[in-house]
Amino acid sequence: MAHHEPGTEDSGTSESGSGRSVAHSPSPAELKEKYRLEREKRLRPEGIGQYVDFSGVYSDFDTDPYVEPGFTRDAVVDEVDVVIVGGGFGGMLAAANLRKAGINNFRIIDKAGDFGGTWYWNRYPGAACDVESYVYLPLLEETGYMPTEKYAKAPEIFAYCQLLGRTFDLYDVALFQTEVADAAWDDASDRWLVTTNRDDQLTARFVVIAGGVLHKAKLPGIAGIETFAGHNFHTSRWDYDYTGGGPTGGMDKLADKRVGIIGTGATAVQVVPRLAESAGELFVFQRTPAAVGVRNNMPTDPDWAASLQPGWQEERIRNFTALAAGDQPDEDLVGDGWTAMLRIDTRRRAPNKEAQAELDAIDFANMEGIRARVDEVIDDPAIAEALKPWYGQSCKRPCFHDEYLPSFNRPNVTLVDTEGRGVDRITPAGVVVGDVEYPVDCLIYASGFEVTTDYTHRLGFDPRGRDGVSLSEAWAEGPSTLHGVLTRGFPNMLMISTVQGGQNVNFLSPITATARHVAQVIKACLDGGVQAIEPTVEAQEEWFGAILTELDATWRYNAACTPGYLNNEGGGDMRSARGAAYMGSALNFSDILDRWRSSGDFPGVEVSRTDAVKG
Ligand code: NDP
Repeated sequence: MAHHEPGTEDSGTSESGSGRSVAHSPSPAELKEKYRLEREKRLRPEGIGQYVDFSGVYSDFDTDPYVEPGFTRDAVVDEVDVVIVGGGFGGMLAAANLRKAGINNFRIIDKAGDFGGTWYWNRYPGAACDVESYVYLPLLEETGYMPTEKYAKAPEIFAYCQLLGRTFDLYDVALFQTEVADAAWDDASDRWLVTTNRDDQLTARFVVIAGGVLHKAKLPGIAGIETFAGHNFHTSRWDYDYTGGGPTGGMDKLADKRVGIIGTGATAVQVVPRLAESAGELFVFQRTPAAVGVRNNMPTDPDWAASLQPGWQEERIRNFTALAAGDQPDEDLVGDGWTAMLRIDTRRRAPNKEAQAELDAIDFANMEGIRARVDEVIDDPAIAEALKPWYGQSCKRPCFHDEYLPSFNRPNVTLVDTEGRGVDRITPAGVVVGDVEYPVDCLIYASGFEVTTDYTHRLGFDPRGRDGVSLSEAWAEGPSTLHGVLTRGFPNMLMISTVQGGQNVNFLSPITATARHVAQVIKACLDGGVQAIEPTVEAQEEWFGAILTELDATWRYNAACTPGYLNNEGGGDMRSARGAAYMGSALNFSDILDRWRSSGDFPGVEVSRTDAVKG
């Protein structure tokens, strides 16, 4: 099962008396070459085209397992100030900020049966937030809630979303199990007309699109998926009826089953330990190993919680966000694997060769630590070799877990390493890798979500702006926005997204800043008699210039990375650059939004007011 590249990871190794490879320290040049070879193995000409979504023959994958089938309700006809599309953290925080600003006439639309977004859908056993809950969960001081542990589990986070919904009276204005069918700007009335698949008709002055970041699940386009005769589902639609058990595991119905899981990303790292405990046999199909550092979760210390002074959360969030952007503040309040790894941003472009070599050495050392941990934990040297990640620390989302690697020491768990090729075929009986067919009763896709596909594809509808031009038409050459929030031709449409918006390993950091921004812009418009706002072409291009400047170092870094959603599966052109996030610090991003708002009359934006004559 282990794979070997002559002259790379084996160079300089010797065998110990136990038959185990003795650790060696590869040179930076050897590591670079090893990384290059591993990338080459995985590059696919079809890029993001290797994935398929839940449509056509795969539409059964999209059934919501968390609601009773057959929900109906009367259509809603309403006139509101704001329609918010999305009831995840982005939409909820926009709504909470609207309430705080005294704007109460709004509606929230979501396909799901409740609030929560990511945390509504991802209920797989073992799901937890991989960022510290004290910085991840928003508005803790306002809700008076203290998470029970440092890394809260998914049910607690979902319950917190429901608490936010209750705290800000959002349930009364929510339209759940509802999808936007169309959103069209009407120039005559300066209103958006939003219709849904439940025949709702909403007229709104503003539309806020908080459609999610990692919400559109994808399947690998492996030949034969639709022929599989056993049971199968994606991790974001967990079928507890089939598996038994619940979010903490205990899936008793899998005790006599052969279960396969495809994918070894951040989701699989959390779910594999729970499956390993419950399944009769578990086959983990791996294309690229995850990098898994120490988690060290712990319950919240009540004395620490009691000692916190007002303003503590904002301070902690700013500190973590800065550390996770490589800003190196003096203090590290969170003190975990993220802050240890990211306090020096090894992706940034160094001023000279020596400084670059230093950054590379830090990255190599961090990853050597990750690989050494595999050797420490895994009993079988061949399995250990296959589980080692050979890429830079920011090529894939780093994972932190204390039970994932030990799962591979269990007798009922088999790692099927595809050596970078991926699964070859799915048959009615199971999964084929090379010449071997692995029969399974149940096949679980931990294959992730669309990130770099077209925005409107992920959104599920195509807003129509001035003159009926759709967003997909307007963005045919890639997105153009001001701050990722406003886009020309789509007046009064405000987006909360990573497309030209902010980013951080703590997604809540840019989401919080953008949601606050969106609500305050709307408030200023309503107070100031503004009928319509949209950015100028010049302002959009200036913002894209800022994005390109920040993207430069990331692109250079990503060019040496194994493929994945963070580097558009190893490809990239100017169109995909236009869809990139602002890669500068999320604190910078937040400051840019704040400065823009406080600088006066919406610089770079065309404004029409109530008293203006329409023509
Ligand atoms: P990922 O996209 O990270 O992982 C998908 C996995 O499927 C990869 O291991 C991929 O391999 C594998 N795969 C794809 N095609 C094939 C194939 N043909 N054969 C075999 N394997 C294949 O998705 P995840 O759902 O794991 O994570 C997505 C993101 O969600 C994370 O990066 C993170 O941002 C977020 N997340 C956050 C969590 C949190 O706690 N906050 C927890 C879980 C997820 P390859 O790497 O080779 O492409």
